[in-house]
Amino acid sequence: MAQELILLIEDNEKNLKLVRDLLQFNGYETIEAITAEEGIEIARTHHPALILMDIQLPGMDGITALKHLRADPLTRVIPVVAITASVMTAERKEILEAGFEGYQAKPINIKEFIPAIKNVLNSRLNRQDAS
Ligand code: MN
Repeated sequence: MAQELILLIEDNEKNLKLVRDLLQFNGYETIEAITAEEGIEIARTHHPALILMDIQLPGMDGITALKHLRADPLTRVIPVVAITASVMTAERKEILEAGFEGYQAKPINIKEFIPAIKNVLNSRLNRQDAS
């Protein structure tokens, strides 16, 4: 089975390195952007299996970026998981209502992170089987 490509959109270098290392250690290929604008362009050209999106980014924020991805036929079906430092219930609600497939809180929980990613990738595959 081909390695699945995961796009990381994250401006925090430490968190980017942690997530990259976790994903690569578990056999995923990664590609990275530090701004939403750059990430959207990579999503259009590389068709990743999943996008991990930081919410607070320089320039366009992650919630606005998700709207752009959903509006574009090239990127519409790619699942997007939010990464947020906020523990505010209101912001979590906003994230799920915006249409993210889920969210991971920072600091990343190393034990829960990969199972959560596998879950999202599996439900994407199940959706494709059903159609
Ligand atoms: Mn950030």
